Amino acid sequence: MVLPWAAGGAEGPPARLPLALTALWAAAVGLELAYVLVLGPGPPPLGPLARALQLALAAFQLLNLLGNVGLFLHSDPSIRGVMLAGRGLGRGWAYCYQCQSQVPPRSGHCSACRVCILRRDHHCRLLGCCVGFHNYRPFLCLLLHTAGVLLHVSVLLGPALLALLRAHSPLQATVLLLLPWLMLFTGRVSLVQFALAFVMDTCMAGVLLCGAGLLFHGMLLLRGQTTWEWARGQHHYDLGLCHNLQAALGPRWALVWLWPFLASPLPGDGISFQTSADARTHR
Ligand SMILES: [Zn+2]
Ligand SMILES: [Zn+2]
Repeated sequence: MVLPWAAGGAEGPPARLPLALTALWAAAVGLELAYVLVLGPGPPPLGPLARALQLALAAFQLLNLLGNVGLFLHSDPSIRGVMLAGRGLGRGWAYCYQCQSQVPPRSGHCSACRVCILRRDHHCRLLGCCVGFHNYRPFLCLLLHTAGVLLHVSVLLGPALLALLRAHSPLQATVLLLLPWLMLFTGRVSLVQFALAFVMDTCMAGVLLCGAGLLFHGMLLLRGQTTWEWARGQHHYDLGLCHNLQAALGPRWALVWLWPFLASPLPGDGISFQTSADARTHR
């Protein structure tokens, strides 16, 4: 049912299968790490100061990762419950037939979330929900800290993988890195050895994916664009470097990367946006 005073999705919330699969993979990485550190060769040898710094870094990364996942999933970027009635018919507004509501500029309907998203960027397949006005900051911080955590995990698992690779011929080591399933099915590695190679492969793939995402979204962030606007070559909301950063991350944009719960309120409401033409007029 669509309430007359607020926009609402015609259907219920989206399925959480992608999120469950991502959580399963994260659990596999965590289990592998625990296995190698506790039952396997253990962590790389370090002095007491370096070990303390490493533990502090791990705690910092983990808190940021979990905090941003929680904020990302908890923030609803959609128009559900947002007061839109009476505000439409201005420049950039449109009517969404699926939501049966006027929707503001920069919003877009997501067929997976089955609702319009404020300042819609894209639908995140790995977490199973859309990235929009209200969860762009945790999304960007997640990219950064996921890459950091996976790099850290790779460094911790590195010596165990290196020992495993040295125990095989160069050809077998290459196949183990590229096609660990093949080595398991042909009986050349045990299930434990396969798990180590598989987890390391996915960690490195994750680092590359997050790094590429961070570069791409960093470029969009500086240009004040969404992915949708970038794909269409639109620059209507580019207010200049500093204002673009503030519009997406709030006034403390330089510090939000360090702590997920740092207060940095967004200047807008996700419904009306200053355009670059407006900014030029006010100068
Ligand atoms: Zn819609
Ligand atoms: Zn979506």
